[in-house]
Amino acid sequence: MSHQRTHSGCWEVVIGLEVHAQVISKSKLFSDASTKFGTYPNENVSFVDAALPGVLPVINSFCIDQTIKTGLGLNGTVNQTSFFDRKNYFYADLPQGYQITQFYHPIITGGYVEIETKDGNDKRINLDHIHMEQDAGKSIHDKSPTKSFIDLNRSGIALMEIVTKPDMRSAEEAAIFLRKLRSILRYLGTCDGNMDEGSMRADVNVSVHHPGTEYGPRVEVKNVNSVKFLMIAVNSEVKRQIKVLESGKTVEQETRQFDSDAGETWSMRSKENAQDYRYFPEPDLPPLWLEQSRIDAIRATIPELPDGIIFRLQRDYRLPHYDARLIASEKEIARFFEEALVDGTKSDKILVKMLSNWLVGDLFALLNKHGVTIEESRISPKSLMDLMILIKNEAISGKMAKDVLELMWKEQKTPGVIIEEKGWRQTTSAEEIGNSIRKILEIHADKVTEYKNGKEKLFGFFVGQVMKEMQGKANPQILNEVLLKLLKE
Ligand code: ADP
Ligand code: MG
Repeated sequence: MSHQRTHSGCWEVVIGLEVHAQVISKSKLFSDASTKFGTYPNENVSFVDAALPGVLPVINSFCIDQTIKTGLGLNGTVNQTSFFDRKNYFYADLPQGYQITQFYHPIITGGYVEIETKDGNDKRINLDHIHMEQDAGKSIHDKSPTKSFIDLNRSGIALMEIVTKPDMRSAEEAAIFLRKLRSILRYLGTCDGNMDEGSMRADVNVSVHHPGTEYGPRVEVKNVNSVKFLMIAVNSEVKRQIKVLESGKTVEQETRQFDSDAGETWSMRSKENAQDYRYFPEPDLPPLWLEQSRIDAIRATIPELPDGIIFRLQRDYRLPHYDARLIASEKEIARFFEEALVDGTKSDKILVKMLSNWLVGDLFALLNKHGVTIEESRISPKSLMDLMILIKNEAISGKMAKDVLELMWKEQKTPGVIIEEKGWRQTTSAEEIGNSIRKILEIHADKVTEYKNGKEKLFGFFVGQVMKEMQGKANPQILNEVLLKLLKE
């Protein structure tokens, strides 16, 4: 556990997250307006989203299904009855003057996410609940020196607020949790987890205390929109709180804003002037009743999730845990990996491990270099496996295979074609390699004498010369064997 030790003793960090995850859905939670990202401002705004008088919300049942799926995927309990509540506050980008949310009776209760901590231990992060709510619009202040603008495209989009228990004990743990949660939501297809576009953001609650004593008062840092910022926000908040406590003052329960440029938090509002939202049951919506059959039908659509895939990859292919975890982190990577393992190669443990190495090593490097996802890979699963087979059959050395992979990407040809075109096929013929060795030893007869007189490090020199003469196509092992034999003659 990562306790922070200072002159006043040991501090334990406590973190709970409230993650806002935008539901994948074509239309909004209470209107039929589109949820498309990146359109013109106010292009996707219905009367409901603009809160014109006299309009009424209608529940989008697909958004409900998506939230049920999320709750089940995160091991929560789906409540057959839940209610919507009105949270009243005034803000320019909230034309209704209130947000419809679920305060008293949320749709999902409980649940958990299993994470693997930095030191390789399993840890369960419990969820308090998941509730649904509508997103607000966006105020734009940087387009004009004298005016502010309002974009209501986001207004009314369905959000799931996933609230954890205060179970995390370090910035790393919170980061691992957020990544894992994101991965599961992406597997479920209920949130794209795109933090750059704001489809996933977190309010981070942080406190510190001495182990064995009660938790300290929590400070909530609003709207943290990347894993990196989450870690910076937690660490800077922990430092600030310890400093406050060590100077003899007390930490106030308050809400702070995170400034990502400065890497610091600053106070937005304290508990004394905390907002009173005057929550009350939403009169425009009936209670949400869910038939058990509907919940069961959704349960049947839950795909295999990362933990299950990690287990299966280790069991079926004898992959190390580390590899399995990397491959299972994204649905598309797992799919790529398994598509490459066509019949026959599946049971070859060496090939499977090679494939894993090349996938998370060399192919990932290429994807990174070109800034694309695995779905946009110019190398297909089958081509990558073909390359593995060529390496294993010693048609090409692992070193040259790296160049082949580059060309596969660039020219979109199969590795077999590239090797033939370039004449890169490696030879294992002892005869061919022997001929080349004899030629080299003849040219360097003086060095052969030196070698025989004890200058053994010349061996490497001969290997290099033969490789050069054979344009790198000699099988290194056979080259070594034959060279050793001929030098003894
Ligand atoms: P409230 O009811 O005041 O909104 P909650 O108990 O619902 O507070 O907690 C909101 C969030 O704050 C949750 O994610 C929870 O895990 C977290 N949290 C609660 N207490 C603490 C604490 N002492 N330190 C850190 N996080 C906390
Ligand atoms: Mg709460």
